[in-house]
Amino acid sequence: MILLKKLDCKSYSFEDEKRALCYKDLHGENMLKTVLISILFTTLMNTSLADVNIKLSSKIKKSQKKAIKSDLSVLEKFSFSKEGSDDFLKVFDLKSLTSSALEEWLDQRVSWVIPQTDFKKLKLIDAGFVVYPNKNELPEIETPTVKPTGKGVVVMSNIGTAIYYIGKQSSKRMGVKISRGLFKSKEEVMLDSPRTGVIQIGEGLFMRRMQVNRQKDNSVANSLGRLQTFFHEARHSDGHGKNLGFFHAVCPKGHDYAGLNACDRNINGPYTVGASLMKEFIRNCDDCTTTEKETMKIIWLDSLNRVIKETEVIAENDNPEIKLLELEISLKGTLLALTSSAEERQNVEKELLELKKKLKDLAKLEGLIELVQSPFIDSAPEKIQ
Ligand SMILES: [Zn+2]
Repeated sequence: MILLKKLDCKSYSFEDEKRALCYKDLHGENMLKTVLISILFTTLMNTSLADVNIKLSSKIKKSQKKAIKSDLSVLEKFSFSKEGSDDFLKVFDLKSLTSSALEEWLDQRVSWVIPQTDFKKLKLIDAGFVVYPNKNELPEIETPTVKPTGKGVVVMSNIGTAIYYIGKQSSKRMGVKISRGLFKSKEEVMLDSPRTGVIQIGEGLFMRRMQVNRQKDNSVANSLGRLQTFFHEARHSDGHGKNLGFFHAVCPKGHDYAGLNACDRNINGPYTVGASLMKEFIRNCDDCTTTEKETMKIIWLDSLNRVIKETEVIAENDNPEIKLLELEISLKGTLLALTSSAEERQNVEKELLELKKKLKDLAKLEGLIELVQSPFIDSAPEKIQ
């Protein structure tokens, strides 16, 4: 019976009322009765709430919890009368576009949602040495060439994948403690795979100016807008080796976000996921107004435009000047990893960018630039055994 209670309490994180029942259980009052009531309650709740197991940290504001629950409920009830496009089904690896298939997709990639917290304030767990799969293969994180102008707003971030990546860099098994609210207890969530899925909500997620419909907070279209962000983040829970976490790429020259780490160099990453889903929402939404659909189209196009279709690379060659520059860049890259101060890092990054520009200019001059199509990446996730 204790086991049953514990299991129940775990799956209760979504509902304050359910948590209250667990609380009573743990105090030993009317144990059996309470357990039976809570099972009944779960069954009833499952029919009216989104059928996902995503848990919300007790530290998330009540109004935000309500909005997230409502978003998931919109997803559950959303009727896709038109089948998803072939591209959509391929990107999501689904046979058919249904709300339950999407719920399952999200469920596999997100297990916790936590509030925005300064990284230093996260309660990280260091469980010591462990051997990671493909331990020498890490994604290459592209360095932005410009600083964002104005005040950037974080909408959501996949902090679980970031922690997994940090753990992999130092061969340490890591986790994070998340508040459950019950006796102020914390759940220890181990990041043994990016698929553990710990998503952090940012200040932008519920900002009125970021909403599809600024006049009607609880419109279905607003939920769909937040859901596409949610699915974008969920994609960061995928990938392995060099493609772990589907890290973003620096947008090319001439792009709206040129020089910023705000694009994808593949055709099935987070921005494609967000764009493809938004397109299907637009095609199928009966509760969205024409004006809302126009705004949703802007979001769809913004996401779609962040997918870099082809990349300029230097063709195979034996030009000694190019070889020398490549060697210098490689050495600077090693130096960058060893820098200890922010100032030193900035200087090395600047030198590195100058060298890369010099290399590209030279390759162009020699007619050695080739265009390579962005790949469709194997999204299978990694996991510590
Ligand atoms: Zn992203």
